[in-house]
Amino acid sequence: MYLSLICTACHGKLSQQTDSLQCLECGSSFRMLDGIPDMVPLSVEEGIKKSILAWEKINYDYDAELMKTSNGRLKAIDEPLLSRVRGKVLEVGCGTGRLAKPVEELGAEYMGIDPSLKLLKQAFDKGITSLVRGIGEYLPFPDNYFDTIIGGYHSFRYLILEKAYAESARVLKTEGILAFTLWNYWSLCLHTLSGNVKALRIPWTSFPEFPSQKGGEICNDLVWVYGEKKRLQRMGFKILSILSTKRFPFLNRYMSWRSYWHGSIGSLMGYDVIIICKKWKDVIS
Ligand SMILES: [Zn+2]
Repeated sequence: MYLSLICTACHGKLSQQTDSLQCLECGSSFRMLDGIPDMVPLSVEEGIKKSILAWEKINYDYDAELMKTSNGRLKAIDEPLLSRVRGKVLEVGCGTGRLAKPVEELGAEYMGIDPSLKLLKQAFDKGITSLVRGIGEYLPFPDNYFDTIIGGYHSFRYLILEKAYAESARVLKTEGILAFTLWNYWSLCLHTLSGNVKALRIPWTSFPEFPSQKGGEICNDLVWVYGEKKRLQRMGFKILSILSTKRFPFLNRYMSWRSYWHGSIGSLMGYDVIIICKKWKDVIS
């Protein structure tokens, strides 16, 4: 499998050594960590560095934490992604490899990439071996390689989207699918408001920080899907569908995770926004 990897610094070919992968062009060396190649580039943007560090230092049981999310919600997020899966599949931000089995059960070939060695080791212990330590903004794969890229749960929330879209477009084949999920900023605000009201917290309107104002941390809560659509189109993607899960504080009992709002306006109302697009042309960068 490591024959398919390329250098994240120069896109050169790699040669496999005993405990590392060596770039034949620029000489960069990538370690093998307990059977997992570490393809995080040596020099990355400050925001990415912070994000990698945060995931590396994760000090709680990620799987247990995720299981607190209702099964209905996870299904509502996973199903639109899994319904598009075919051929060679890359999961960006694969964590502990929760989606590896469902992807393989669909007859597709799974590969997971994540910055957290801690989480990757847990995936490895579950018997998932197609794993690489790395980041969505600098993918260690050749051009036109994958048929599908998925961002399971909200993994794209923590990426520099402009870069992650460009890299996804590069490594996807033409007609390849990119499917991922973001949180709707406005519903997070509503959620905070309802929590504050219920707990009689004052001020009631202490909303989550506006995504662009977070101190250097990457956190892409979706303010307006129109901007995201434009960015994806610039990278050569065609938007196939925008779904968002129906959930409102105060009204949850009347709404099922099994149904979605559709389109741009719907994305303002829903909870999790699922964006599915197709690479339809190569954009010369
Ligand atoms: Zn290189």
